[in-house]
Amino acid sequence: MSFRMSGEFCSGEAVRGRSSRRRGQTLVASLIVIAIIMILTVVYMRGTGGGKPAKPDGRGTTTMGAAKASAEDIACQSNVNQVRQLLMVAKTSDDSFKPATVDEIPGATSVSKCPVGKETYTIGPESGEIHCPHLGHEKF
Ligand SMILES: [Zn+2]
Repeated sequence: MSFRMSGEFCSGEAVRGRSSRRRGQTLVASLIVIAIIMILTVVYMRGTGGGKPAKPDGRGTTTMGAAKASAEDIACQSNVNQVRQLLMVAKTSDDSFKPATVDEIPGATSVSKCPVGKETYTIGPESGEIHCPHLGHEKF
């Protein structure tokens, strides 16, 4: 490195000018990167603006909202499956057990409601199938 400093093209002023220009380029590059990150964050958090909801009940208009709505749907599906299993367990000990509401199933009170709309799960009067009455959760 010392041989560069002694050359006539590498005076102190030239080195300083190049260093200052490089610092300016680094600053511009950093600002561009920060701007891109901010734009991506805004799109990720708020959506692109004209987005339609991901779920039939109006949830999930943004990317984050759609992810949250999917997580809530999975929680509801898990609750419905737990209630079905609790009903099966109750029927193994008492074959004639036919509850009118989900709350009559032993142990089902903590998972008897949809985590999205807080509706209590319904039991089909003839089929005995357990379903969630929330819009979009009919298939669970
Ligand atoms: Zn539900």
